[in-house]
Amino acid sequence: MDEFTYRDGALNAEHMPIAELAEAVGTPFYCYSAATLRHHYNVLDNALSDAGLAERLICYSVKANSNLAVIATLAQLGAGADIVSEGELRRALEAGVPAEKIVFSGVGKTANEMRAALAVGILQFNVESLSEIDLLAETASEMGKTAQIALRVNPDIDAGGHEKISTGKAENKFGIAWEDAERGFAHARALDGVSAIGIDIHIGSQITELAPFRRAFEKIAGLLANLRADGHDIQRLDLGGGLGVPYGRDNDTPPDPAAYAQIIADTLGDSGCTIMLEPGRLIAANAGILVTSVIRTKQGQAKNFMIVDAAMTELMRPTLYDAHHHIAPIAESDAATKQWDVVGPVCETGDYLGLDRALPVLESGALVAIFAAGAYGAVLGSAYNTRLAAPEVLVDGDKWAIVRARPDYQALLAGEQIPDWL
Ligand SMILES: *Cc1c(COP(=O)(O)O)cnc(C)c1O
Repeated sequence: MDEFTYRDGALNAEHMPIAELAEAVGTPFYCYSAATLRHHYNVLDNALSDAGLAERLICYSVKANSNLAVIATLAQLGAGADIVSEGELRRALEAGVPAEKIVFSGVGKTANEMRAALAVGILQFNVESLSEIDLLAETASEMGKTAQIALRVNPDIDAGGHEKISTGKAENKFGIAWEDAERGFAHARALDGVSAIGIDIHIGSQITELAPFRRAFEKIAGLLANLRADGHDIQRLDLGGGLGVPYGRDNDTPPDPAAYAQIIADTLGDSGCTIMLEPGRLIAANAGILVTSVIRTKQGQAKNFMIVDAAMTELMRPTLYDAHHHIAPIAESDAATKQWDVVGPVCETGDYLGLDRALPVLESGALVAIFAAGAYGAVLGSAYNTRLAAPEVLVDGDKWAIVRARPDYQALLAGEQIPDWL
């Protein structure tokens, strides 16, 4: 569900015509819908509630879309944050997420990052190796603190989806190997500075089937029983993110949050643990579109190219993951369509936003929307080809604001210097 709808032949974000925003901010730009963000959060939270999961915390995965206004929208609903760097810690705090709702994930936390998170008293570190536990224990002890930790275990489950976003198989870099999990908890118990109170998993992203989740949660239930039998006081189960979303507009059916919540309730509902989730894509993907204009069209030898002013530098997902995004003109049209490769101006063959799309012939300057671009869109942007980052706009009803401005070239070049000895 999203709040990007056509009215009188023109695309709107909630009550704002996209064409009006484009006039005001120029293209390309990202447009987010606050109502859609809230809707997705509430659907998931209500699903958990309806499944009887009273003790729960949804920690929005900040890396999916880390704009301060996006995080703040969710923080106002009571969301926590799942972060993977000190930069994301700073964003979450600045956006109003209380430290006691922040979870720090990631395989490569440094001592400095641990110190920053310990200093503000975050809820939990999700640790991914024994050596990380050692470093955290040492760092926390030096500060006179005890870090609450969950051990991220790798359940060795193939959740399907693209290999570059699979995380829960034995060959992935994430988590502590399943057969080492109990040893990891025993290891942590022997250390000052850490208190192992949780089990954490995250098996992948854009997962469109629920069966892998059920398999993973069943394995967690088994591990939980073993750990408790061994005297570990496990209070939290962090089940990660990964729920998939529809990218194709009408055709694909995403997993149903209610069914997902029911699986959690069935497998872990009587664990007595707080259930934590780390959704990113589910919350943000369909809450954003990338708006671009046609620069020109070009008839190639074998293909028609629609060259637009957004590129892989604004939306890398098609290039990086062969991802599909629905693409449609802002102005509805029933003109005859042709097949187009929608490409950006960047000098890379891999720079495309969509291949073989049926679209009408569009004039230079015509506006086009790339849908479901709210997650892993702007955050993956780069300045390759010395392009200016696309601005981000947040719409909320009939209000809107630029929530990240387009930099100017001066700002872009400001960090660089030609040494005076050159
Ligand atoms: C990326 C990530 C998430 C969010 O994944 P989505 O597929 O966007 O829900 C959650 N937890 C961890 C540890 C992650 O790395």
